[in-house]
Amino acid sequence: MRNILIVGAGFAGATYARLAAEDGLNVTVIDRRNHLAGNAHDHIDANGVRVHTYGPHLFHTSNSKVFEWLTGFEEFVPYEHRVRARLPDERLAPLPINLDTLELVFDKTFATSSEAEMFLKDISLEIETPRNAEEYLFSRIGVELTNLFFRPYTAKMWEMDLSEVAPSVVARIPLRFDRQNLYFPNDKYQGLPRNGYTKLFEGMLQHDNINVQLSRAFDKAMEAEFDFCFLSNAIDEYFDEAFGPLPYRSIKFRHEDRMREPSVDAATINYTDHSPYTRETHWWLLPNQQERPRETTTVTVEQPCSYVDNAFERYYPVKTQDGRFDAVYEKYRTEAEKNPKVSFIGRCGTYQYLNMDQVINQSFQGYEHWKRRALA
Ligand code: UDP
Repeated sequence: MRNILIVGAGFAGATYARLAAEDGLNVTVIDRRNHLAGNAHDHIDANGVRVHTYGPHLFHTSNSKVFEWLTGFEEFVPYEHRVRARLPDERLAPLPINLDTLELVFDKTFATSSEAEMFLKDISLEIETPRNAEEYLFSRIGVELTNLFFRPYTAKMWEMDLSEVAPSVVARIPLRFDRQNLYFPNDKYQGLPRNGYTKLFEGMLQHDNINVQLSRAFDKAMEAEFDFCFLSNAIDEYFDEAFGPLPYRSIKFRHEDRMREPSVDAATINYTDHSPYTRETHWWLLPNQQERPRETTTVTVEQPCSYVDNAFERYYPVKTQDGRFDAVYEKYRTEAEKNPKVSFIGRCGTYQYLNMDQVINQSFQGYEHWKRRALA
């Protein structure tokens, strides 16, 4: 076992590449895009603003092993993400829903967290085992908050009603009974690479045993040239969609030049309305910007769409309440297991809605598992 091919220079590919290189293997990383970092890629735009090319990537984890490993390649600056939802009357409410959100929406005051918790319990429905995202939310925050904060947004994001979406999709958003207003309240480590994600990836892939080839698409004939291949490209595409497509949601980004708005105190504003847009990001509120800010800045508005309508740019695997696409994925996985020379990794290889830290952690585990068999 000497020569390894890795397809995709995103978090999964770069993590496998680094670990294999450190074990003395010759690693070739290819990516069909002309840049590193996959969907985490960032760049400085014409306004001098660091923009995440494929939408906001906010790093957060409670996994100290992942965080320590990553910060070995690039310094991270502390950053705790905040999100507000713009209500129909234009007021901005904290998200995740917390005590302040409840006071704002219901025009009430709560003296303690337990009062807020009791109130939410009262307005929630008793559903023991929620079968879909709607039932999950009804059982935790009741009908009114579900319909305000989640129903229109989810319809725009997934082109499905909440009742068709898997509970796990909305379970990503926690619930607070106090006034704490962080988007990731439960994660110990939160930050951004000081000089951006692209720089972080340059660090991860900077190794004598790693050869990176950008703008190079994968071709199955390449498998013969390597001892083993880790593939983070789409598994359905690899098999020419033999069992049908694995759909993704994608996003179209509209970058707007705007004057800085000092009143905006949360980098992301989610829309509760019925427009086609889900949220806007004020990049200048992220701390890893360049030092001399200009007056004109960039705000990016997101419009979700099918990946078919966005040049097959795969961002979010579609998780329905009946798990029908996961069942299709299982067929591909079973087929892939018949090929002893390849392993599928990452969001597109394993059709999972994963955060960055989860991708890295799964890559640690996947690599160790592979190594025990392949390098024994
Ligand atoms: N969601 C919503 N309203 C919001 C925020 C989230 O309905 O204001 C739902 C929506 O279905 C979304 C999911 O919760 O796709 C997960 O949200 P998250 O912010 O984690 O999405 P991401 O940042 O990964 O796009």
